[in-house]
Amino acid sequence: MKAAFRAMQILAALVAASVPAGAQTRTELLDRLVRAYPDFLASHDGKQILWRDGTAMPVDDGLDDKTFDQRLRDASILDQLRLPYPVGASGPPAVNADPGRFRNEPFFTKMYGDCRNGAVQRNLVTITWLPRSWGKAVRVTRINGVADRLKEVSAEIDQLEPELKAAAYPIAGVLSCRPVADTGKMSMHGYAVAIDLNLKYSDYWLWAGRGKSIPYKNRMPREIVDIFERHGFIWGGKWYHYDTMHFEYRPEMLAR
Ligand SMILES: [Zn+2]
Repeated sequence: MKAAFRAMQILAALVAASVPAGAQTRTELLDRLVRAYPDFLASHDGKQILWRDGTAMPVDDGLDDKTFDQRLRDASILDQLRLPYPVGASGPPAVNADPGRFRNEPFFTKMYGDCRNGAVQRNLVTITWLPRSWGKAVRVTRINGVADRLKEVSAEIDQLEPELKAAAYPIAGVLSCRPVADTGKMSMHGYAVAIDLNLKYSDYWLWAGRGKSIPYKNRMPREIVDIFERHGFIWGGKWYHYDTMHFEYRPEMLAR
């Protein structure tokens, strides 16, 4: 009897765990997206995102049963918002929990430009990364205030203890005009809104080998992650397909 009760308790906990804590409706997700990019987005009507320049973009492709790989390679705007990003402390990610890796390429290209024709490069500005510790020039986009936000991130990381901030420099790079290895889609580095920190503190899922499951590894201090999240950047260390030196500006994943 006692064992049966315990089994029921475990089952109840499993059911609760399978429903994301912040499960949101389509309207709430789209509201969140519009609020996250006020310079570009005006509103949505549940079917389309309306841009301030008058452009309307469909939020859905009508395909409800896409596989994980299909969403990685060809995400709709709604797919982009589908997986909740765990802000703050979190354990190792569940299998295929990659919040932020589904990206709708036309959406980001319209906002930041296409690096293959020089449009991204026209909006780059120079900031100094960690002026008190490293002090080198880094080129990032000014669109959506990303350069200003990174300056704030840099100033806060600069206040950390030396052993913590050592993971944040030298940086491995910002702008890199090429697709993500396993998706074929433009990397957020192609828009100059992602930064890779110190390679020596970095762990990457592809380095763990292609076994049946991917063992999680991380050496990026929690303090650095918290600072980036407060300024609108998500961390690649919260993905099942982890990339722990990687941070990208994705305020729609963090907005409440
Ligand atoms: Zn990266």
